[in-house]
Amino acid sequence: MLNTETRQALIRILGPEHVLETPEDLLCYAYDASPIPMDPSRMPSLVVFPGSAEEVSQIVLLANEKGFAICPRGAGSNVSGGSIPDRDAVVMVLSRMNRILTIDQLNMTADLEPGVITEQFQNAVEKVGLFYPPDPSSKGFSTMGGNVAECAGGPRGAKYGVTRDYVLALEVVMPTGEIVHTGARTMKSVAGLDLTRLLVGSEGTLGIITRITVRLLALPPAKKTLMAIFPDLEKASETVARIFTGGMVPTTLELLDKTFINAIEDYRQIGLPRDAEAILLIEVDGEAESLDRQADRIAEICRQHGATRIQVAKDAAEAEELWIARRSAFASVSRIKPSIIGEDATVPRAAIPQAIREVQAIAARHRLTIGVLGHAGDGNLHPTILADERDPDEMRRVELAVEEIFRALLALGGTLSGEHGIGRMKSPFLNLETGKAGLEVMRRIKQALDPKNILNPAIGLGD
Ligand SMILES: Cc1cc2nc3c(=O)[nH]c(=O)nc-3n(C[C@H](O)[C@H](O)[C@H](O)COP(=O)(O)OP(=O)(O)OC[C@H]3O[C@@H](n4cnc5c(N)ncnc54)[C@H](O)[C@@H]3O)c2cc1C
Repeated sequence: MLNTETRQALIRILGPEHVLETPEDLLCYAYDASPIPMDPSRMPSLVVFPGSAEEVSQIVLLANEKGFAICPRGAGSNVSGGSIPDRDAVVMVLSRMNRILTIDQLNMTADLEPGVITEQFQNAVEKVGLFYPPDPSSKGFSTMGGNVAECAGGPRGAKYGVTRDYVLALEVVMPTGEIVHTGARTMKSVAGLDLTRLLVGSEGTLGIITRITVRLLALPPAKKTLMAIFPDLEKASETVARIFTGGMVPTTLELLDKTFINAIEDYRQIGLPRDAEAILLIEVDGEAESLDRQADRIAEICRQHGATRIQVAKDAAEAEELWIARRSAFASVSRIKPSIIGEDATVPRAAIPQAIREVQAIAARHRLTIGVLGHAGDGNLHPTILADERDPDEMRRVELAVEEIFRALLALGGTLSGEHGIGRMKSPFLNLETGKAGLEVMRRIKQALDPKNILNPAIGLGD
């Protein structure tokens, strides 16, 4: 527990209106969007809302002096247990720092604070003809600071990459309290070690991000959405790599299996083909004149590899409906079973068919329903286990299945997480991918930057 003197010091730094301490308020910051059950022993001591990098720095200095842990938090929408505090930690919510500071049209960059909501930022730059591509399905509520700390991706990653590919520079409060500026506003810079890359995806363990500089693209003038319908999941998954080897680079290439198709259709009734075993939801963008050519070529490749029907969205409203449906995929399946364990393993594109076969075999072996959807264009699958945490036998089988999925996908040359991060949930498995020596190097970096293990100690790089 924080002693009274420390509480009062925090209140002095921020003012009482920016500190929460009632049990009801603390409860609201003891969980995130991961399926980790709420545990009263993980209640934070205090929740603080700093308004500037200087205030963040003062709090971090106090944490070093008094020895309390800090859990940085954006919107708490991560699904890996990254913003669940340790017992007695102080949760630091960055939502007050929510200004877009500059949009530099000529240099195509922007500066913003970490609490800006991703979609609001995208809308702001699109108003002036610019484009910030990373589009996690949580973009309507997640913060840019959280996106940077997780290196979030999204459907458009197939063509445009992930958050890391857009972050040029950061202002960061280090775990020892110094305010540092990493990177540069230039398109290239090799001055010293690439601290920006180290911090992107570091899940609040190496520093608290207080300002972000991103590069922007010109907004593509037009886009087109099509849906390829397959009677066979395997064939749909084989088609993914074929689209790219056929010379096409779709903006998005999402795969949904029958479980998801039916759950979404139950939820939103937009006319998805219930009899299909899989669909590929594909978007192309660029000059208007190029869209038909791109869509025709992709449709041809899909047909050659087993698609029985191709449906093209006839206008922007119909396309948006399909994407809203895709974004509500997880909400849809939560109507089937109450506990959704969404995995995030990513494999090389050509290994997707084998990865899906392995997941199906694991589901059958453990008598579980595992739906598969994912950003297939970049090999990022979300095998999604539908379970009920009130059923201990089922949850035991889920645990076994999760570990088998990790091992199977790593054996295919994959990674434990394409975009959701390691958090508390995957910390015990991180060494499966990094090896002992690799994990040790990461721990040494953490130890060097955060000698008192102040920032997010629950995430696997700490002890
Ligand atoms: C419905 C749904 C759909 C999703 N879809 C996608 C998707 O398509 N792609 C994808 O990549 N992810 C997706 N996610 C998960 C994704 O990780 C988060 O939505 C998002 O990136 C986290 O943002 P946040 O503001 O909620 O951060 P939080 O969840 O609060 O924090 C995430 C991590 O970052 C740290 N952190 C937060 N802010 C800072 C900061 N300023 N400085 C340092 N560390 C910080 C936290 O300690 C934590 O470890 C989805 C989640 C949900 C619930």
